[in-house]
Amino acid sequence: METKTAKLLDGKALASQIHQELTTKIQELQTQIARPPGLAVLMVGDNPASAAYVRNKEKACQLVGIASYGQHFPQDTTQAELEAVIHELNQDSRVDGILVQLPLPSHLDAVALLHEIHPDKDADGLHAVNLGRLVRGEPGLRSCTPFGVMRLLQEYNIPLRGKQAVVVGRSILVGKPMALMLLAADATVTIAHSHTQNLGAIAKNADILIAATGIPGMITGDMVKPGAVVVDVGINRITDSQGKSRLVGDVDFDSVAPVADYLTPVPGGVGPMTVAILLQNTVKSYQKSQE
Ligand code: NAD
Repeated sequence: METKTAKLLDGKALASQIHQELTTKIQELQTQIARPPGLAVLMVGDNPASAAYVRNKEKACQLVGIASYGQHFPQDTTQAELEAVIHELNQDSRVDGILVQLPLPSHLDAVALLHEIHPDKDADGLHAVNLGRLVRGEPGLRSCTPFGVMRLLQEYNIPLRGKQAVVVGRSILVGKPMALMLLAADATVTIAHSHTQNLGAIAKNADILIAATGIPGMITGDMVKPGAVVVDVGINRITDSQGKSRLVGDVDFDSVAPVADYLTPVPGGVGPMTVAILLQNTVKSYQKSQE
């Protein structure tokens, strides 16, 4: 008998479709705005994972026609120096989006810095004003990763209204805004976290299960309801038994794939969607700058 396996939610393909749509939109808007959209990605120190993410974002900008005004600062840069740079970028009419690549070195206060970004240039959607708009259901710039997940679910016509959704993880970057977006789509949402008891039983109730914990392979097949939609937000670098380094998610792909109906791969699932939404947010601010 052939073993059943989940259909993959292909974030890579959808992201490249969004890139194409953005390229066309930018070409059209540029005839009126007379400059390209601009995104400034600020990076501090030399965390290799962050450097790879920043390179990816800048490459994607180039692909669609967004100008990059990124800056890379040494590890010992002060809070005041970064604040000054953000204030300058807030005033710079060529720049539509500003993003501070996280995590920051421990002497810096990331939340305070994010709040220095003008909410209309908050490409990552993490400013309290934009998170507040999400809570209130008002239009605004949405956090890239959870919004990317919503876009991916929409692309595959996954019904959300009245469904049981379980979000594992409650970070401000992923889990919390994810839960709010699912709630706005009329799902019945449970948020699980590091103090949750009986996670397996809670997860097994989920029609839609979102894993965002940073723990490699923690969601296993026995925790998944047959026919569920499983979204793996995790990106974790591990060294496998052959000593090879590779990226894995928070979902144990091999045990979950035979149980779930839909599953995101890692890499190629949520990761590319995050970048696509970042570009989309930048273009949204660009368009708004003209109004
Ligand atoms: P985080 O460390 O800020 O938060 C982790 C969350 O997991 C916490 O809320 C914690 O309560 C919860 N958690 C920890 N242990 C748990 C357990 N045993 N059971 C249940 N919950 C538990 O991490 P984050 O920034 O939210 O990122 C989570 C993962 O998503 C990481 O692997 C990260 O690399 C990845 N990520 C991916 C993208 C993307 O574009 N795909 C974007 C952001 C983050």
